[in-house]
Amino acid sequence: MIEVFIRPASIFIRQLNNMTILSILHFPDPRLRQQTKPVTVFDDELKTFKDDMLDTMYAAPGIGLAAIQVNKLKSMMVIDISETKNDPRCFVNPALLEHDGLIKTDEGCLSVPAIYEPVNRYERIKVKAQDECGEWFELEADGLLSVCIQHEMDHLKGKLFVDYLTEMKRKRIRKKMERLRRETM
Ligand code: ZN
Repeated sequence: MIEVFIRPASIFIRQLNNMTILSILHFPDPRLRQQTKPVTVFDDELKTFKDDMLDTMYAAPGIGLAAIQVNKLKSMMVIDISETKNDPRCFVNPALLEHDGLIKTDEGCLSVPAIYEPVNRYERIKVKAQDECGEWFELEADGLLSVCIQHEMDHLKGKLFVDYLTEMKRKRIRKKMERLRRETM
């Protein structure tokens, strides 16, 4: 196992069996509030980054991860809602084309660990995005996949699911996160 700690960016990268686990930013880290930039270069580096994001998401474990959560300002996210964890999807420069209906589900987020709160989302959506090679595709999604895509697309705009909660709830979560961070420092 190789452990690398790079200063001053505080990027902690752990390599284990050729897996790269990237460090995930936690709410209320202001870096999660940045706007991401469109991806214009589809090279090997991007493909490696996609693999690293998937490794990080599966290891967490989670069902979705946006690049900004690992401190990369790229309009890019990975999702796998399958129980067998063998259906990875990559969305680069995603855009919402259509939406229909509303659905309320409990959401969680790798950047807000151990917190689950109900959030309203569109029930069905149609999105377009590029894959890691730059190929455009369109996808119609409903249920969990629809919710997950909308959650990750929010990240790309610097928005978190806690923004949909009441001010009081958000403050409580912020305090809990800050306490957790102090305890693990
Ligand atoms: Zn999230």
